[in-house]
Amino acid sequence: MVKADPRLDGRAVNRILFDEARIAARVAELGAEITRAYPEGELLVLGLLKGSFIFLSDLVRQITRPLQVDFIVASSYGDATTSSGTVRLVYDPETKLEGKHILLVEDIVDTGRTLNRLMALLAARNPRSLEICALLDKKLKNELKYPVKFTGFDCPNEFVVGYGLDHAENFRHIPYIVSLQ
Ligand code: 5GP
Repeated sequence: MVKADPRLDGRAVNRILFDEARIAARVAELGAEITRAYPEGELLVLGLLKGSFIFLSDLVRQITRPLQVDFIVASSYGDATTSSGTVRLVYDPETKLEGKHILLVEDIVDTGRTLNRLMALLAARNPRSLEICALLDKKLKNELKYPVKFTGFDCPNEFVVGYGLDHAENFRHIPYIVSLQ
Protein backbone atom coordinates (compact mmCIF):
# COMPACT_ATOMS: atom_id res chain seq x y z
CA MET A 1 0.00 0.00 0.00
CA VAL A 2 1.33 3.47 -0.82
CA LYS A 3 -0.05 6.25 1.31
CA ALA A 4 0.35 9.88 0.31
CA ASP A 5 0.76 11.82 3.55
CA PRO A 6 1.99 15.45 3.60
CA ARG A 7 3.64 14.76 6.97
CA LEU A 8 6.08 12.38 5.24
CA ASP A 9 7.81 15.12 3.21
CA GLY A 10 7.53 13.33 -0.10
CA ARG A 11 8.95 10.06 1.18
CA ALA A 12 7.25 7.01 -0.27
CA VAL A 13 5.87 4.72 2.38
CA ASN A 14 5.23 1.27 1.12
CA ARG A 15 3.99 -0.46 4.18
CA ILE A 16 1.99 0.67 7.18
CA LEU A 17 2.80 -1.87 9.87
CA PHE A 18 0.30 -0.70 12.51
CA ASP A 19 -2.48 1.74 11.74
CA GLU A 20 -4.15 4.11 14.19
CA ALA A 21 -7.13 1.88 14.98
CA ARG A 22 -4.94 -1.13 15.66
CA ILE A 23 -2.62 0.86 17.90
CA ALA A 24 -5.54 2.35 19.86
CA ALA A 25 -7.12 -1.07 20.40
CA ARG A 26 -3.86 -2.61 21.63
CA VAL A 27 -3.05 0.34 23.89
CA ALA A 28 -6.49 -0.01 25.51
CA GLU A 29 -5.79 -3.72 26.13
CA LEU A 30 -2.37 -2.92 27.59
CA GLY A 31 -3.92 -0.33 29.91
CA ALA A 32 -6.39 -2.92 31.20
CA GLU A 33 -3.59 -5.50 31.65
CA ILE A 34 -1.47 -3.02 33.58
CA THR A 35 -4.41 -1.95 35.75
CA ARG A 36 -5.01 -5.62 36.69
CA ALA A 37 -1.30 -6.25 37.32
CA TYR A 38 -1.06 -3.59 40.02
CA PRO A 39 -3.99 -4.09 42.44
CA GLU A 40 -2.29 -2.04 45.17
CA GLY A 41 0.76 0.08 45.94
CA GLU A 42 2.15 3.24 44.38
CA LEU A 43 2.72 3.02 40.62
CA LEU A 44 5.22 5.26 38.82
CA VAL A 45 5.07 5.11 35.03
CA LEU A 46 8.50 6.12 33.79
CA GLY A 47 8.64 7.07 30.12
CA LEU A 48 11.90 6.76 28.23
CA LEU A 49 12.12 9.91 26.09
CA LYS A 50 11.80 10.84 23.44
CA GLY A 51 10.42 7.83 21.58
CA SER A 52 7.80 6.83 24.16
CA PHE A 53 6.09 10.21 24.49
CA ILE A 54 3.01 9.51 22.37
CA PHE A 55 2.64 5.90 23.49
CA LEU A 56 3.00 6.91 27.13
CA SER A 57 0.42 9.68 26.89
CA ASP A 58 -2.13 7.32 25.32
CA LEU A 59 -1.25 4.45 27.67
CA VAL A 60 -1.61 6.29 31.00
CA ARG A 61 -5.11 7.40 29.99
CA GLN A 62 -6.05 3.71 29.69
CA ILE A 63 -4.76 2.77 33.16
CA THR A 64 -7.68 3.11 35.59
CA ARG A 65 -5.86 3.30 38.95
CA PRO A 66 -3.82 5.99 40.66
CA LEU A 67 -0.36 6.58 39.20
CA GLN A 68 2.43 9.07 38.79
CA VAL A 69 4.37 9.90 35.61
CA ASP A 70 8.00 10.85 35.22
CA PHE A 71 10.55 10.56 32.44
CA ILE A 72 14.06 9.35 31.86
CA VAL A 73 16.17 10.55 28.96
CA ALA A 74 18.82 8.36 27.40
CA SER A 75 20.47 8.90 24.08
CA SER A 76 21.49 5.81 22.13
CA TYR A 77 21.05 6.29 18.40
CA GLY A 78 22.06 9.66 16.97
CA ASP A 79 21.04 9.96 13.35
CA ALA A 80 21.93 6.41 12.34
CA THR A 81 19.44 3.66 11.61
CA THR A 82 21.55 1.01 13.32
CA SER A 83 22.32 0.69 17.02
CA SER A 84 25.52 2.33 18.17
CA GLY A 85 25.46 0.34 21.40
CA THR A 86 26.23 3.35 23.55
CA VAL A 87 23.75 4.78 26.02
CA ARG A 88 24.07 8.25 27.48
CA LEU A 89 21.84 9.41 30.35
CA VAL A 90 20.69 12.96 29.80
CA TYR A 91 17.94 13.31 32.44
CA ASP A 92 17.47 11.37 35.64
CA PRO A 93 13.97 11.21 37.19
CA GLU A 94 13.49 13.47 40.16
CA THR A 95 10.57 11.48 41.56
CA LYS A 96 11.45 9.12 44.42
CA LEU A 97 11.58 5.52 43.13
CA GLU A 98 12.11 3.68 46.41
CA GLY A 99 9.18 1.47 47.49
CA LYS A 100 7.14 2.15 44.32
CA HIS A 101 6.11 -0.11 41.49
CA ILE A 102 8.14 1.23 38.55
CA LEU A 103 6.89 0.59 35.03
CA LEU A 104 9.51 1.62 32.50
CA VAL A 105 7.84 2.50 29.18
CA GLU A 106 9.97 2.12 26.06
CA ASP A 107 9.04 2.68 22.41
CA ILE A 108 10.92 -0.25 20.90
CA VAL A 109 13.27 -3.00 22.03
CA ASP A 110 15.98 -3.83 19.50
CA THR A 111 19.21 -5.24 20.96
CA GLY A 112 18.11 -4.54 24.55
CA ARG A 113 21.29 -2.62 25.36
CA THR A 114 19.44 0.55 26.33
CA LEU A 115 17.17 -1.37 28.70
CA ASN A 116 20.01 -3.36 30.27
CA ARG A 117 21.72 -0.12 31.22
CA LEU A 118 18.58 1.58 32.49
CA MET A 119 17.17 -1.37 34.40
CA ALA A 120 20.42 -1.83 36.34
CA LEU A 121 20.42 1.84 37.20
CA LEU A 122 16.76 1.86 38.31
CA ALA A 123 17.02 -1.41 40.27
CA ALA A 124 19.72 0.22 42.42
CA ARG A 125 17.11 2.76 43.65
CA ASN A 126 15.21 0.01 45.56
CA PRO A 127 11.81 0.10 43.87
CA ARG A 128 9.09 -2.27 45.12
CA SER A 129 8.97 -3.79 41.64
CA LEU A 130 10.51 -2.94 38.27
CA GLU A 131 8.97 -4.00 34.96
CA ILE A 132 9.21 -3.09 31.27
CA CYS A 133 6.39 -2.10 28.94
CA ALA A 134 7.45 -1.80 25.28
CA LEU A 135 5.19 -0.76 22.43
CA LEU A 136 7.25 -2.73 19.90
CA ASP A 137 9.59 -5.67 20.30
CA LYS A 138 11.93 -6.68 17.50
CA LYS A 139 12.47 -9.96 19.36
CA LEU A 140 16.20 -9.98 18.70
CA LYS A 141 16.96 -9.19 22.29
CA ASN A 142 20.22 -11.08 22.15
CA GLU A 143 21.50 -9.08 25.03
CA LEU A 144 18.37 -8.20 27.03
CA LYS A 145 18.73 -9.59 30.55
CA TYR A 146 15.21 -8.66 31.70
CA PRO A 147 11.79 -9.91 30.53
CA VAL A 148 9.47 -7.45 28.77
CA LYS A 149 6.31 -7.87 30.87
CA PHE A 150 3.96 -5.86 28.65
CA THR A 151 4.43 -5.78 24.85
CA GLY A 152 2.26 -3.95 22.34
CA PHE A 153 3.30 -5.70 19.14
CA ASP A 154 6.07 -7.92 17.83
CA CYS A 155 7.91 -5.86 15.20
CA PRO A 156 9.70 -7.11 12.10
CA ASN A 157 13.42 -6.40 11.94
CA GLU A 158 13.01 -3.19 9.92
CA PHE A 159 13.55 0.46 10.77
CA VAL A 160 10.18 1.87 11.79
CA VAL A 161 8.98 5.42 12.45
CA GLY A 162 5.83 7.18 13.60
CA TYR A 163 3.77 7.25 16.82
CA GLY A 164 6.75 8.82 18.62
CA LEU A 165 9.54 6.97 16.80
CA ASP A 166 11.88 9.09 14.69
CA HIS A 167 14.44 9.05 11.96
CA ALA A 168 16.91 11.87 12.66
CA GLU A 169 14.15 13.57 14.75
CA ASN A 170 11.65 13.47 11.89
CA PHE A 171 8.35 11.60 11.61
CA ARG A 172 7.56 11.37 15.35
CA HIS A 173 4.17 13.01 14.74
CA ILE A 174 2.92 10.47 12.21
CA PRO A 175 -0.05 8.83 13.96
CA TYR A 176 0.64 5.31 12.63
CA ILE A 177 3.79 3.14 12.44
CA VAL A 178 5.52 2.62 9.10
CA SER A 179 8.63 0.86 7.89
CA LEU A 180 11.16 3.10 6.13
CA GLN A 181 12.55 0.12 4.20
P1 5GP B 1 18.34 -1.14 21.75
O1 5GP B 1 19.17 -0.58 22.85
O2 5GP B 1 17.28 -2.10 22.24
O3 5GP B 1 19.16 -1.73 20.64
O4 5GP B 1 17.65 0.09 21.03
C1 5GP B 1 16.52 0.69 21.55
C2 5GP B 1 16.36 2.09 21.02
O5 5GP B 1 16.84 2.20 19.69
C3 5GP B 1 14.91 2.50 20.97
O6 5GP B 1 14.52 3.14 22.17
C4 5GP B 1 14.87 3.44 19.80
O7 5GP B 1 15.21 4.74 20.21
C5 5GP B 1 15.96 2.93 18.89
N1 5GP B 1 15.44 2.05 17.84
C6 5GP B 1 15.62 0.73 17.69
N2 5GP B 1 14.99 0.27 16.61
C7 5GP B 1 14.38 1.33 16.04
C8 5GP B 1 13.53 1.48 14.89
O8 5GP B 1 13.19 0.56 14.14
N3 5GP B 1 13.06 2.75 14.65
C9 5GP B 1 13.39 3.80 15.44
N4 5GP B 1 12.87 4.98 15.10
N5 5GP B 1 14.17 3.69 16.53
C10 5GP B 1 14.66 2.47 16.82
